[in-house]
Amino acid sequence: MYGTWSVISALGTLDVGRDMIDRGAAWLIGRQNQDGGWGETCHSYVDESFAGIGASTPSQTAWAVNALQIAGLGDHPAARRGLEYLKDSQRPDGTWAEPQFTGTGFPRHFYINYHLYRHVFPTMTLATAGDWKIVPGRIPYLRKSETALSSLKEKLTVGGYIFNKKLKGERKYPLVLELEPLLQCNLACAGCGKIQHPNDVLRKRLSLEECIAAVEECGAPCVSIAGGEPLIHDQMPQIVAELVKRKKFVFLCTNALLLEKKSTCSSRRRISHG
Ligand code: SF4
Repeated sequence: MYGTWSVISALGTLDVGRDMIDRGAAWLIGRQNQDGGWGETCHSYVDESFAGIGASTPSQTAWAVNALQIAGLGDHPAARRGLEYLKDSQRPDGTWAEPQFTGTGFPRHFYINYHLYRHVFPTMTLATAGDWKIVPGRIPYLRKSETALSSLKEKLTVGGYIFNKKLKGERKYPLVLELEPLLQCNLACAGCGKIQHPNDVLRKRLSLEECIAAVEECGAPCVSIAGGEPLIHDQMPQIVAELVKRKKFVFLCTNALLLEKKSTCSSRRRISHG
C-alpha cells in the first residue's frame, strides 16, 4: 500500500508512466474494504497474496485516497468513500487511533508503529481533498505547489537525466540517494530503530567530503538527507549548499526542532530548494 502510493506520487510528480498510475489506482480500488478504508498487514511480506489486505487504518486509507487523487480519481466513489472513512474515524480531539504496526524496519523481522502517521497523512489527504477533486483527469501534484519537484526546471533536469540513461540503454539507475550522515536524533520516538544504536555509533558523522563523495558516486539527481536528525550535524548548511551548487534537488527529512536555530536565511532558501 505504502509502496503503491509512493510510486504513484513519484510518477505523478514527474508526469510520466500514465499507464502505471492507472494500473496502480485500479489495484487500490480493488483492495478497498467494505467500510470504505484500506489496510494491509505486514504479513504480506511473508505471503504476497496478502498485499493490500487487512483491517482499515487511517494512514493506509489516506495513502490510498491520496494516490487516487494524484491519479485524477479524486471524484471516484472509492476516493469519496475513503474520505468518509477518514472523517468517520476521526476522534473528537481531531486525532486518529491506529494500534496496528504498519511501518517496516526490516521485512519479516522488525516492524514499526509510527505514531504520527495516523494523524499526518489523513490530515493532509482531507485538507487537500477539495482542491484535488476539481481537476479530474489531471495529475494534481503538478498544480499544487511551486516548491515541489514539479517546477519546470526540476522536471527538465530529472527528465533529462532519465532520457540520458535511456539513450545509453541503462535499465536501472538511481533517482534518489538516501543520505544518512548521522543516526543521532534529538527526539526519542518509541520504536525508532535509528536511535537504538550504541553511543559510539550515534556519535559518528559522515564528513562534508564523505557526503559529497557519496553523492557524486551515486549520481542521482535528487538527494534525500535523513538521519537521525540531520540538523544536529554541524556541517549540514554546508552539505546542503554543496549539493545545491551541484544542482541536486535536496529533501531535508527533519523533525524541524532546530530549523530556525540552525538555518540562516540563505540556507533556509537552499533547504526549500527541493
Ligand atoms: S530519527 Fe528521531 S524523529 Fe525520526 S523516528 Fe527516530 S527518534 Fe523520531
